[in-house]
Amino acid sequence: MFDGHPGGEERQTTPTAIWSGLDNAWQEAFRQAWEAFRTGNIAVGACATTPDGAVVHAARNRVADSHAPVGEVFGSSLAHAEVNVVARLSFGKRKELVLTTTLEPCLQCSTVVRLGPIATVRFAGADPLWEGCHDFSPLSQREAARTHVEMIGPRGDVVGVFGTLISRFWDHGPKVQEFLRASGEADSLNLVRELKASGTMPKLAAMDVDVAFAYLWPQLKALSPRSKAR
Ligand SMILES: [Zn+2]
Repeated sequence: MFDGHPGGEERQTTPTAIWSGLDNAWQEAFRQAWEAFRTGNIAVGACATTPDGAVVHAARNRVADSHAPVGEVFGSSLAHAEVNVVARLSFGKRKELVLTTTLEPCLQCSTVVRLGPIATVRFAGADPLWEGCHDFSPLSQREAARTHVEMIGPRGDVVGVFGTLISRFWDHGPKVQEFLRASGEADSLNLVRELKASGTMPKLAAMDVDVAFAYLWPQLKALSPRSKAR
């Protein structure tokens, strides 16, 4: 139903239509993030694809895991989704792959991406913790002269809101929470608190990620930047 308002694209459609409109890399990254959530890890997922969209490797956060596929990091604070994707790729080839991730990469992962065969990063959700940490060109003349990894994101839509929100299911501790609240995430963090207090988390974990996206749709729309701009 089109309501006649400019920029009302998301209000005229359904969460199911938005989800099915995501390309395979986005869907795979979110499937990975959801598996991270279900297994007690930080809900971030990522995948690398060829320029024509074929998935080369997909992986997820494994900070709380006790095992992982060979070549991936687990049971460590460094066991981030992007690390576990890039760790499995062949280096030394042309930097032409696309890394799609559900959350803006942290400093560690930006470094890993810089080292790996990645030309482009697409990320769904913004992460104020790591905004501005993706450009290494001020570090040296060699870095400044290199071709930079293209960063595309955050999406700025409900899918992006979802990417940030699910990463906040993990309790990052009071200092990080305070920073995030001051950075505009108070509503998201309050929603996470409500979901936990109401016993909704186990219900969400029992859903597939697209079903959870649809379940949270009203709250995601309320949190979306486009919604707040009105
Ligand atoms: Zn990271």
